[in-house]
Amino acid sequence: MYESDCRGCRISQGLQAVRGNIIIELDGDWVLNHYGGDEGFLGWLALQPKFHRMDFPDLTPKELASLGGNIARIAKALRHCWPDRFADLIERVYVVYFFESAYDDPPTDFHMHIHMIPRSRKMGEGKSGSETPSAVAAWKTSCLASQPWFPDAYRTRNGAREEEVRELMDCLNLHLASQQRSSHRQCQ
Ligand SMILES: [Zn+2]
Repeated sequence: MYESDCRGCRISQGLQAVRGNIIIELDGDWVLNHYGGDEGFLGWLALQPKFHRMDFPDLTPKELASLGGNIARIAKALRHCWPDRFADLIERVYVVYFFESAYDDPPTDFHMHIHMIPRSRKMGEGKSGSETPSAVAAWKTSCLASQPWFPDAYRTRNGAREEEVRELMDCLNLHLASQQRSSHRQCQ
């Protein structure tokens, strides 16, 4: 079920440190954690199969059947949990799956994980040259947090905003757990 030298498998088992130290178990053997890459920012999440899978064809029927529902619940929970004190609003949640790393040459394979990336109103307000704010936010997501106009409160690079990450993941954990419990009750 697990590969001993796989980072994703180590995350699933709690053997690999993740931002906020929270790994959320979801329906159908999926797990959710806060993304820790340098280009990440507050609310950028990684959804992955609990067990070792490298691509969509590797997923079991159970994992495939629960993926859509999990994505929808996470997108809803992110909006619900975004702290009011930011006086901001999540306008989109991008869902992105890369089959290989953009930063390794040659590209490396890794445990399948789907990026779920919130784009708030304030993240889309900044401009760069003649591009529209939404074009900068949507198509240059990996460069967003390095833009001078990006909201400082959302920067997580180099371990920043650990309290905010934990607070958000705590809320997502509670919210997603309650949704799953209610869906299970409906089935009984
Ligand atoms: Zn793995």
